[in-house]
Order: sequence, then structure tokens, then C-alpha cells
Amino acid sequence: MNQNEIINQAENYVLHTYNRFPLVIESGEGVRVRDAEGNEYLDFMAGIAVYALGYHFPGYDEALTAQIGKIIHTSNLYYHAPLAEAAEKVVRSAGMSRVFFTNSGAEAIEGALKAARKYAWLRDGRSGHEIIAMNESFHGRSVGALSVTGNEHYQEPFRPLMGGVKFAVYNDIGSVKECLSDNTCAILLETVQGEGGIFPADPAFLKEIRRICDERDILLILDEIQCGMGRTGSMWAFEQYGIRPDILTCAKALGCGVPVGAFVLNEKTAAASLVPGDHGTTYGGNPLALAAVSKVFDLFRANDIVSHVNAAAAHLAAGLDGLAEKYGCITAHRGMGLMRGLAFSDDIYAGDVAKEALRRGLLIITAGHNVLRFVPPLIITEKDIDEAVSILDDCIAALTDGK
Ligand SMILES: *Cc1c(COP(=O)(O)O)cnc(C)c1O
Repeated sequence: MNQNEIINQAENYVLHTYNRFPLVIESGEGVRVRDAEGNEYLDFMAGIAVYALGYHFPGYDEALTAQIGKIIHTSNLYYHAPLAEAAEKVVRSAGMSRVFFTNSGAEAIEGALKAARKYAWLRDGRSGHEIIAMNESFHGRSVGALSVTGNEHYQEPFRPLMGGVKFAVYNDIGSVKECLSDNTCAILLETVQGEGGIFPADPAFLKEIRRICDERDILLILDEIQCGMGRTGSMWAFEQYGIRPDILTCAKALGCGVPVGAFVLNEKTAAASLVPGDHGTTYGGNPLALAAVSKVFDLFRANDIVSHVNAAAAHLAAGLDGLAEKYGCITAHRGMGLMRGLAFSDDIYAGDVAKEALRRGLLIITAGHNVLRFVPPLIITEKDIDEAVSILDDCIAALTDGK
């Protein structure tokens, strides 16, 4: 089948919940993908911040193939070696205590919410505990995760959602304090807001939230599903703030392509929350997924991916600063590490830049209100970055007549 036939067949049978780019991806190699007609694209979206190690990183496929040769699923009623290994690696890397593996980011959020409610219920024997979440946040599409996603457009058709959620303004500590009550059991935020438009937390904001949580025994849940796993220039973004969450959620790059997520608890939360019978999943953390996770942590360490991120990020930041200086339609450049955004003024639509980039051989996506989002594979080189910046320069020039 050619590209158009594949697209037509998919359009005839797949539920229309996505407006997809007109591209059929057939394979990937390094930081590039190929379409069904053999054209190559430089990938600056990495399956939405999933492919941290790019495609076919040496050792990754071999680990998965070896696991397929043994067993891919056991159920969580038995132990398996990838579970033991991946759990220790995740927990130690985050400086936490215990982990529960899921199939997705949304499920990691669901588990975190349940753990927080259970912790508060065990403490004071009451139900009705509230969660403070942030406007412009994104935590996933399941009903619980949607309930804490501060986006009216996503929520409205699906009400009533999970109750007991209050929304504060990100980076506005006063608005968080206004939401506090004796019923607050958790404050949930992304350390760097991703879908909302690439907004890092202000250090003073996050530190003050940590202080409030400590003072009132409220749990701090940091969602690092997008910004974790080395993307911001440290294994976890919170490391750069000198604080730790009580519960951490991760997914996306955790398995570098295999569907897997996790919520990770510190000692106090693990000791007094979910117990046998409270939570479960058939697939979550199966041997195949966790063989990937375990290998990913080894590969990150052996190849010092985090140091590479810092070097590459400085180069990308300089390139994007250059574009921001050149074009008046770029109103801001924000981000940390290899998670960056370029905000555009109303006269140009970031989605059109992404479409134009696709025509010129670059995969890139948008976020929030008119922001072009950069979440490339973490192994990206300076040469790849120069190529992407140059393609974008041409795209913006073409769309704005150089303005
Ligand atoms: C993508 C994302 C999620 C949801 O993950 P899914 O795997 O799509 O369910 C949750 N939180 C953040 C910050 C994300 O970027």
C-alpha cells in the first residue's frame, strides 16, 4: 500500500480523536524516521518526549529481543527479574522508597491520586479529601487524570468528573494558599508544565509549596511524565530545585518506546497508603516493559546521557535565542534542558510552522497557546540542532515574509 492508501484505510476505521499529520511513519534510525516512501525526517518530537535514546540505540533492541525470547507477560501475581531490577533502578535514581508500574502516564496519575487519598484517610479517618492542581496543567485523559487537568476545554463535555479538586494558578503561590483547606491532601503539579506551553516552575514557588506541604502534612505530587528522565538536564527536574516530592509520576521516556509508567512514593507515603487489595493492573510493569526500563537506566548511566543533555541544550537554547532575536513574531523562548518552547504572536500560528516543517523534513509539535515545542531525542547532536534551527528559520521566513 502506498502512503495515501494507508492514510485512507486508517481514516475509515480509526476513531477520529486526532488530527494527524499526513505522514505514514515506517521506521526510525538514530534521530530520524522514514516514511512509507523512503523520505527521511529529522525528529524533534521523539514520539512526544518518549524516544529519549532515539531509534535503535545500541543495546536497547537486544535487551527487548532477549526478553521476548523468555517471556513477555506474567501478571503481577508472580515475581520476575525485570521487576526487581527496574524497581530498584527507578527508586534509587529518584531517591524515593517504592514504585508501582503502570502502562501509561494517566494511570500513574490515577495511582498517585489514590495513594494520596488513602494516606489522608488513614491519617484522619475521614473521606472527602481535596487535591490542589494547577491551571493549564496536563495529567492525562482518564477520568481521574482529567479531573486534575486544568483545561476547561478538555473537561467540560465529561462532567461530572472526580470531585474535590481545586485549581490554582501555576507559579502564583497566593492562589495556591487560597485553595488550601483542612481537607487538602495533596498538591499536584508538573515540575515543568509541558502541554500547557513549556513553563518551568519558579524555584521560590516550588520551594514554598514544599514548605507548606511539610507544615501541614500535605503530599506533594510532582508529575515528571514529560520533564523527567534526563530531559531537563538532571535525571529528574526536581533535583534542580533542591526539593523532593512525596510522590513522583513518570512515563513517556521511562521505557523509551515501550508503554510504561510509574508512580514512586517516598518512605512516609509508602508506609501509610496503598496495601494489598487497594490497587492493581493486569499488564502494568510486565517483563517486556520492565526489561526496557531496566536497560534504559543502564544505557543512561553508561552513556552519561544527562551530561550530553546539558551540552546539547546550551546549543539548542542559543539557536532558539537566535530565532527569537531575528523574528518579531516570536514572543518568548522558555524551557529547561532539551524541553523548550518558542511562543508566537497571534499573527502566526505555531501549528502552521509545524506543518511547514514537516514539508521540509522536520518533525516538530506544538503546546499550549501558540507555542512550538522542542522535545527531541536526548542523543541529538549539535549538527542535528543546527539543521533543525535552519529548517525552522526557513519555515518562519516563508510564513511571515521575514517579519
Ligand atoms: C503525557 C502526559 C501525561 C499523560 O500520559 P499518557 O501516557 O498519555 O496517559 C500526564 N502528565 C504529563 C505531564 C504528560 O506530559
